[in-house]
Amino acid sequence: MNSIDISIVVPLYNEEAVFDTLIQRLSNVINQTDFMCEVILVNDGSIDKTNQLILEICKADNRFTGVLLSRNHGHQLAVSAGLASVRGKKGAMIIDGDLQDPPELVEEFYKLLIQGFDVIYAIRKNRKESFLKKLAYLAYYRLQKKISSFNIPIDSGDFSMLSRRVVDNINNMPEQSRYLRGMRAWVGFKQIGFEYDRDERQAGNTKYSWSKLFELAFNGFFNFSDFPVKIITRLGFFTVFFSLIYFGYNIYRRVYYNDVPQGFTATILAIILFSGVQLISLGLIGEYVLRIYNQVRNRPLFVIDKIIQDGKEIGE
Ligand code: UDP
Ligand code: MG
Repeated sequence: MNSIDISIVVPLYNEEAVFDTLIQRLSNVINQTDFMCEVILVNDGSIDKTNQLILEICKADNRFTGVLLSRNHGHQLAVSAGLASVRGKKGAMIIDGDLQDPPELVEEFYKLLIQGFDVIYAIRKNRKESFLKKLAYLAYYRLQKKISSFNIPIDSGDFSMLSRRVVDNINNMPEQSRYLRGMRAWVGFKQIGFEYDRDERQAGNTKYSWSKLFELAFNGFFNFSDFPVKIITRLGFFTVFFSLIYFGYNIYRRVYYNDVPQGFTATILAIILFSGVQLISLGLIGEYVLRIYNQVRNRPLFVIDKIIQDGKEIGE
């Protein structure tokens, strides 16, 4: 009989350097809790020893489940694959594999869960990251809050605990370009923030390149806000309004002063400016078209190579 209360989902991409410490910390945590935990280790197509290490621990210890993806799908999809395998009756916890999110907090989060909260999201009080990244995060989260159609909490990442019904709802959301912190907020119910100090990565290097970060940021903007496409229309009206005024002004000068406007520079500037505006507008619309295209292709979100559950490979 399934007696698992909470499944802890950990996405891993080339994390051999931190793996032993991670398993140590997780084991300590799940040994102590007075509720049952399983740990779901998702291998996101690592090319180092992570895959092998996951296989070993899952075969040796029943409380570890391994979900091995067929290739690198990216963090958000790796977490989605983990969530799809959650057996916890009460819900799931999502943490990063590099121990930036302390797994020890599972008990604090669980207290809030049984008090009736459906989403307990961690809020980063401070970050130990480079100045440039901190600045980028600061600007991004605030901009996102301004433009998103509903409230996505500031400075909260994927580190969170979700009740069973939130996990089920997220698993039922078919969207291809996934932005879990937005989806989690969209589901609703009772949500609460939990402030914590985000640690440094314990070993190895970041697996989030700037391009992956930008992709995530774009998903945050386009999937949860109509603002980008609306701003184009507004910009259009704005430009037309001012050109009309300028147009009228020139006719006035022509009629009353016989003054014909001249100027090569002004013409070129206007052309360059509005070509730029048009390119950006096309790109913005393209972002939506791309998302529609991805969605109608209706591919599965991820491809699983193997699942190791209860010490053996499923189907073995
Ligand atoms: N990760 C993943 N797939 C990827 C990139 C990252 O599963 O394509 C995992 C990674 O192993 C880690 C978590 O996502 O457990 C967060 O990544 P990372 O710590 O590198 O991001 P950062 O904290 O630097 O933003
Ligand atoms: Mg990290």
